[in-house]
Amino acid sequence: MRIYNTLTQKKEEFIPLEEGKVRMYVCGPTVYNFVHIGNARPAIIFDSFRRYLEYVGYQVNFVTNFTDVDDKIIKKANEEGVSATEISERYIKEFRTDMDALNVKEATVHPKATQEIDGMIEMIGDLIKKGHAYEKNGTVYFKTRSFPDYGKLSKKKIDDLEAGARIAVSEEKEDPMDFVLWKPKKEGEPFWTSPWSEGRPGWHIECSVMSRKYLGEQIDIHAGGEDLIFPHHENEIAQSEACNEKEFARYWMHNAFLNIDNKKMSKSEGNFFTVREICEQYDPQVVRFFMLNSHYRSPLNFSKDLMEAAKNSLTRILTAVGQLEFLLSGNSLAETKITEQESEFLKDAQGLHEKYKVAMDDDFNTADAIAAIFELVKLANTNCSSDSSRAFVQEVYELIVKLCDILGIFTKKEEELLDADIEKLIEERQTARKNKNFQRSDEIRNLLLDQGIVLEDTREGVRWKRS
Ligand code: AMP
Ligand code: ZN
Repeated sequence: MRIYNTLTQKKEEFIPLEEGKVRMYVCGPTVYNFVHIGNARPAIIFDSFRRYLEYVGYQVNFVTNFTDVDDKIIKKANEEGVSATEISERYIKEFRTDMDALNVKEATVHPKATQEIDGMIEMIGDLIKKGHAYEKNGTVYFKTRSFPDYGKLSKKKIDDLEAGARIAVSEEKEDPMDFVLWKPKKEGEPFWTSPWSEGRPGWHIECSVMSRKYLGEQIDIHAGGEDLIFPHHENEIAQSEACNEKEFARYWMHNAFLNIDNKKMSKSEGNFFTVREICEQYDPQVVRFFMLNSHYRSPLNFSKDLMEAAKNSLTRILTAVGQLEFLLSGNSLAETKITEQESEFLKDAQGLHEKYKVAMDDDFNTADAIAAIFELVKLANTNCSSDSSRAFVQEVYELIVKLCDILGIFTKKEEELLDADIEKLIEERQTARKNKNFQRSDEIRNLLLDQGIVLEDTREGVRWKRS
């Protein structure tokens, strides 16, 4: 399996630190509001990647955090006149509701920053001891120039960064590039006691600490959206490697951004949607399918038209699965061995399975993997009928279900049939009736009925309506 590593800017063969095991950390959300549709992209992508790693046999230790102490949380708490904990706990709950809807699995460990303050104080203390950090009036800064590799992930040069940096009057940094590890409380802010001041940690230190605590000093994969490359991930590398004196993460994976109608998502522009809002208009499965239909490193445009297209594509898969299920639940299939022709079709199906795996192994190309599923659906639609052998239909069915399942797409749920699919089935029913194959014609009537489609035989032909 090859994955694109932001650190080396190349696709690399994935070799885990420990055979058969993957240690993976994904930066989680700051919980001060409902998650937006952009946040859903890394959640769905890295959940599917985890599922694929598990499918190929790895035991995945998947850690992701909640940033539950932050300026935005405190601001919202003050606006509402409640505690910061009340805000963060409320949106952690809402986050889980959205993730359940999107079929994102719970992490192996899902720590909250506020529960890990002791570990942060310990790491900050170690960084000071090792000469990588210093304290000024209760604030602790990381001494960026003490880490010679600074900039290796984002490919930024510290001197270039410094040229554009300014020190705010209120700051006491030794160097404009130094960043905060610990800051003293302001009036009305939550705080913890530390050797430097009553205060709270900076954002970057939390991931270095939680990653080390739950996965060890060195991990296989660290992931998140591309906006996190700089400064968040760059700073995490500096803290972790300066403290542990070991390479932090071997592979860095970043998803590209999701835009709305080709524009950056922005509340003031009015093109900002929460996952909750979108899931009121679309089945969350459609949202998941939409995200996986593009490669995770390509920018993704979110629009009504593209969502409609995703909905129709997903329905095509689910309709085919529904038809296969229907065939398998009836007794029209031949209880004979797979015919020679069918075994040829199965070879084609295996070829498509292979194509799917090749795509997934090539930097998690879910777009090409889904294209292989569509070819399989076509194979099923053309070749599986009540004249087929049960063993053949069963095999095709199981393969489609498995390939969808790896991507976290349920195939069990009944979806609305597309008008075109209904017309096609009605046509097939008419042909069956003409050929006096009443078993098949009844089968089709019942299949449609199961999906809420009622047929009416009139003198002018067959009419149908959704019940
Ligand atoms: P945040 O709560 O802003 O830290 O974001 C949580 C995760 O969502 C991070 O991995 C971000 O990189 C990612 N993210 C935020 N906005 C977008 C977007 N528009 N498209 C894709 N990923 C995003
Ligand atoms: Zn992080």
